[in-house]
Amino acid sequence: MPSLQDPVTAVRGVGPKLAEQLATLEIETVEDLLTYFPARYDEMTPTNVQFAKDKQKLAVKGTVMSEPIISRYGYRRSRVAFRLLTGMDVVQVTFFNQPYLAKNITANMDVIVTGTWDAPRQTIKGTKVITKDLDQQSGMGAVYSVNKHIKQATLQKTIRQAFTQYERFIPTLLPVKLRQDYQLMERREMIAQLHFPTDRELAQAARRTAAYEEFFLFELRMLALRQANREADGLSIQYHNDEVRAFIKTIPFELTNAQKRVVNEICRDLKAPYQMNRLLQGDVGSGKTIVAAIAIYAAITAGYQVALMAPTEILATQHAQKLAKVFAETPVNVGLLTGGVKPKAAEQLRAQIAAGQINLIVGTHALIQDKVEYANLGLAIIDEQHRFGVKQRQTLREKGNHPDVLAMTATPIPRTIAITTYGEMDVSIIDELPAGRQPIQTQWLQAKQLETAVRFLKEQLATGAQVILLVH
Ligand code: ADP
Ligand code: MG
Repeated sequence: MPSLQDPVTAVRGVGPKLAEQLATLEIETVEDLLTYFPARYDEMTPTNVQFAKDKQKLAVKGTVMSEPIISRYGYRRSRVAFRLLTGMDVVQVTFFNQPYLAKNITANMDVIVTGTWDAPRQTIKGTKVITKDLDQQSGMGAVYSVNKHIKQATLQKTIRQAFTQYERFIPTLLPVKLRQDYQLMERREMIAQLHFPTDRELAQAARRTAAYEEFFLFELRMLALRQANREADGLSIQYHNDEVRAFIKTIPFELTNAQKRVVNEICRDLKAPYQMNRLLQGDVGSGKTIVAAIAIYAAITAGYQVALMAPTEILATQHAQKLAKVFAETPVNVGLLTGGVKPKAAEQLRAQIAAGQINLIVGTHALIQDKVEYANLGLAIIDEQHRFGVKQRQTLREKGNHPDVLAMTATPIPRTIAITTYGEMDVSIIDELPAGRQPIQTQWLQAKQLETAVRFLKEQLATGAQVILLVH
């Protein structure tokens, strides 16, 4: 039975040569062809230039009034120009860098020209000229992104043929319930409307469905990755509950409910036999550091080492100082390993890490370099990790005996971005500030609003406030 996994050569008219050309667009199967969606649409229904606004995209039907003139200039630049009688108007038509069009166009010929209307000059800057089957043109024409190996028309024809042949074999993808709840299109109809739109609203609905599908599949992949991570072997860190409790008692304040909740989530992951892969998100000042300290302490009571990584040396140094204080009365030995440490001292530090004499190693991201050998790394913590990618996290996860990984960030992450950047992780959120703390206001500004931001910062600093600026 035909299947969308068939190679493109199964489509009538596609031989080895065309298959090779299609491969340059990474189109190898029928499914690749059917899901190679247009980059844009050209308006194909002829309109009257008298009603057109400046810079509007349009299609105009008319008679060529003059032989096209080709002018060449600069390096491989050219212009093809002719006059077109459309309705009662004579307009100028100009095509840039498509000199070959000239040989298909002659005076007195009827054509449809698509392009952009330049009202002051009464000129159409053309994108396409149609010289055949003028009566059959209407609606929107799909335009695909192509390269020098394959022509637009060839691709259009091939996709149409593939659709005709395989339409009946396009399986549904989204569950019916979701499709109904979100008013999405059936997949077969979506594919048809994307390639051969018959109606603006249907085409719009098809694009919406395609976008939904893409996110849906992405989430499924991430879910599968999370599941696979769960099933992969990890450490079961048997921390000493009593010792952890005793440590928490030494903290000079009461944990917020949110902190207690995330501590439980993290501790459950530490103990479980799978590899933790968790993102801890909370505003600046929400108390992530103490949560991390509890996790560090727990892992160390089980006899493991912990690595804590910060994006800069300054942050790493601050962390090391804070934690050295927090752990002053405990058996935790803190070592600071950054690029600023002298080679000889670093050498010595690495030896101590390898021997297990230091159980908490704080440093910059350089800590994931292979040079550092741990005696028994159980937990790796990454602070402010928006500079860390999925790949780097994976490198870390594969270190030594596959340590548990906890990433911390203060950046409020919009849900859609959370899915794309942290989708493979479980998420813990501290959504509560310690009592008496002012909530943090977060503003998202565009680059062009920089002046507004600077003015605001000046005002705030003048009142003695502290400001933290995150630039992405
Ligand atoms: P974050 O890392 O999330 O920005 P920190 O862990 O640095 O926040 O905490 C900010 C400050 O709040 C620190 O001085 C910390 O000791 C304090 N703090 C943390 N949790 C609490 C709490 N539950 N009650 C009171 N103070 C807290
Ligand atoms: Mg912090």
